[in-house]
Amino acid sequence: NKQVLFKNYVEGFPKESDMVVTDASTIRLKVPADAPNSVLLKNLYLSCDPVMRIRMRKPGDETSSYFTPYAPGSPLSGHGVGEVVDSGHPDFKEGELVWGITKWEHYTLITQPESLHKIQHADVPLSYYTGILGMPGMTAYAGFNEVCSPKKGEYVFISAASGAVGQLVGQLAKLLGCYVVGSAGSKEKVDLLKNKLNFDEAFNYKEEHDLTAALKRYFPEGIDIYFENVGGKFLDAVLLNMRVHGRIAVCGMISQYNLEKPEGVTNLMCLVYKRIHLQGFTVRDYYHLYPKYLDYILPCIREGKVIYLEDIAEGLENGPSALVGLFSGRNVGKQLVSISHQ
Ligand code: NDP
Repeated sequence: NKQVLFKNYVEGFPKESDMVVTDASTIRLKVPADAPNSVLLKNLYLSCDPVMRIRMRKPGDETSSYFTPYAPGSPLSGHGVGEVVDSGHPDFKEGELVWGITKWEHYTLITQPESLHKIQHADVPLSYYTGILGMPGMTAYAGFNEVCSPKKGEYVFISAASGAVGQLVGQLAKLLGCYVVGSAGSKEKVDLLKNKLNFDEAFNYKEEHDLTAALKRYFPEGIDIYFENVGGKFLDAVLLNMRVHGRIAVCGMISQYNLEKPEGVTNLMCLVYKRIHLQGFTVRDYYHLYPKYLDYILPCIREGKVIYLEDIAEGLENGPSALVGLFSGRNVGKQLVSISHQ
């Protein structure tokens, strides 16, 4: 049973050497007698998520009350897709497929399987349950529909737009009839947004010296909805370009995760002048909508109305590099790791 262990608390950018792949523990193919109600999972896909960097921080700051920090010497944990290989729980049977929180290893004993979601639809790629049909998909759906209160014809801007969450927010907005612009960090990503994912416009923020001016160019009449994934100077530039009664869903602020102190926002008074609704949210509060979301999104996937880009690393030993790559934008689409085929 190979594992990816977390070595020690991280400052600055995470590095591959902050994790180590070991071959230490022996494979247990049965639920042990002293862990009744548990299930043993064979992990198939592991998700690389920006929040995993937040969990690498030393406990004690504000974030540790929301996201349990990783313990040095323990395997990383996060979302994944797995197959039940043994079950001591009456609701789970051998051979069932599930997604939810698991560990970065080949086999994981899940002591509270009630938190897992059973996979009922296996006619779509299983890896999608780390992305569009899993946590990032729910984040896009709830963040856009529940937090942004979108209306047809509105002007929508999305940062980190080609990523796991952003690419779906843009397509949901297009299906509703909004005008959608996304920003991303390379020409390849900008081309994908415009030519494959149906965004109206996209730009490479790394080539813009003045983000405020760039947004003015793409939104001469202002932005109604900003889906915030990046934070820092993005939020500041967006505030100046918002329309009166605009809405900002604060999903995440990846540009801040590797900094010791967050960068300041100078244009916050725009919230007042323009009566902007700025709301932070976490997907945890919205899982009750998952069945409704599946009813909506599965036909869209099957009919090709929504496309989902994935970036799949092969093998547990390539997990650390894939995870670290999120913070330099190396991933094109949802980053995940395929660790064993059924
Ligand atoms: P992505 O798949 O978008 O991967 C991260 C991307 O962020 C990179 O590919 C890179 O793209 C971009 N990025 C990295 N560093 C910077 C930087 N300094 N400045 C600007 N862009 C940067 O990740 P997700 O879609 O999974 O997550 C997007 C956001 O949503 C994150 O902030 C995450 O924390 C948040 N989130 C929040 C949830 C919630 O419940 N509120 C749930 C899930 C995610 P590029 O090449 O474009 O720079």
